[in-house]
Amino acid sequence: MSEDKRLGIYIHIPFCASKCGYCDFCSLPGKDKLMPHYQDALLIQLQEALPDMKEYLIDSVYFGGGTPSYYGSARIAELLREIKFSNRLMKDSEITVECNPDSVKRSEIAQLRKEGVNRISLGAQSANDALLRLIGRRHDWHQVELAVKRIRAAGIRNISIDLIYGLPTQTREMWAETLARTLELKPAHISCYGLRLEEGTPMYDEYADSPDLPSDDEQADMYLYAVDLLQRQGYRQYEISNFARTGYESRHNLKYWRLGDYMGFGASAHSNIDMVRYAYTRNVREYISGVFDGTDIIEEKEELTPFDRASEYLMLGMRTSGGICREEYMEVYRSSFDRLEETLEIFRDNGWAEENEGRWRFTPGGFLLSNPLIGILLESQTRERFNANPWIKEAFEALGKKVPLPVAQEPYLN
Ligand code: SF4
Repeated sequence: MSEDKRLGIYIHIPFCASKCGYCDFCSLPGKDKLMPHYQDALLIQLQEALPDMKEYLIDSVYFGGGTPSYYGSARIAELLREIKFSNRLMKDSEITVECNPDSVKRSEIAQLRKEGVNRISLGAQSANDALLRLIGRRHDWHQVELAVKRIRAAGIRNISIDLIYGLPTQTREMWAETLARTLELKPAHISCYGLRLEEGTPMYDEYADSPDLPSDDEQADMYLYAVDLLQRQGYRQYEISNFARTGYESRHNLKYWRLGDYMGFGASAHSNIDMVRYAYTRNVREYISGVFDGTDIIEEKEELTPFDRASEYLMLGMRTSGGICREEYMEVYRSSFDRLEETLEIFRDNGWAEENEGRWRFTPGGFLLSNPLIGILLESQTRERFNANPWIKEAFEALGKKVPLPVAQEPYLN
């Protein structure tokens, strides 16, 4: 086996100072007592797993959460040292830590930098303090500005800022203001996510079907405004929600979108190694005791067939500006690309996709409709399934006649 295989490492830190109103992630507020046990479990897992990954070199490490900056730099440094000890970590690796503005401390950021962290992903979400309070964030915009200063002072240039649009009571103007203030900070990378209200979260109970939520048209305007503005300001859109200055695309996240190999550690962490996907339990206590006792902590596992892999290639590839092409598709799945191309041509006629030197990608308008359009693309892999799904048949007829798509049903809206 060659030494050329690349691996990303993801470490999930499920601790937060408090719970944001929209949060559906695996994160526990007020359970700091579990941190030392959790750290031991992570170290055990790393010590057990990394020696078996001899054919890989690690080129990205991502500490996500949760709030890794709340977990503390000393623990993150200890985990990084364990990864370095494997002798598999490349010198020019991308090493990212997610931080919240209220837990970016000068000394801690300096320690992270010293240990090799070279990218910070900062959860800013909005420049409007009233909105930040409404969604349960613990910080204001001033703290975001302060955090960026501290990160730069520590010598970390690669800063990514996360924003959310479509928040309750948010207007287009408020969103434009957030983007303008974010640009003043000159980050290398910006992520813009549309709010998703997940069942079981406090904001779902309060705002699902609420008139305070921006309408679909307003949200579409916010998205298209961001795409246009950020591109004008030198940020290339390389994925539906992600924008970067040249050379600052997230290497780690690109692995997810390009079917790369990655190994996750910690509660709820997902892995994808050689066509096998698995995820650990979301229950933090179960995760800790499972690692200590050697019992099974895998909650889901699936071996991808070549067809699954091809579907993933379509789904994930069309999320990126790199898009998809015939040669790559046929490499993943030895089957004809012709039907897909017919569908993509219909998308192009509608202004939703474009083709350049054999690569197909969505236009900004296509990204907006990406969920139903990807659904159609997947179905066109197996046209015989049309008859089993009347919506797909209707959608194709609508595309042919250039009339609006029929209202999508599950799972295409998800
Ligand atoms: S900081 Fe992030 S992970 Fe923690 S509660 Fe808020 S949204 Fe969830």
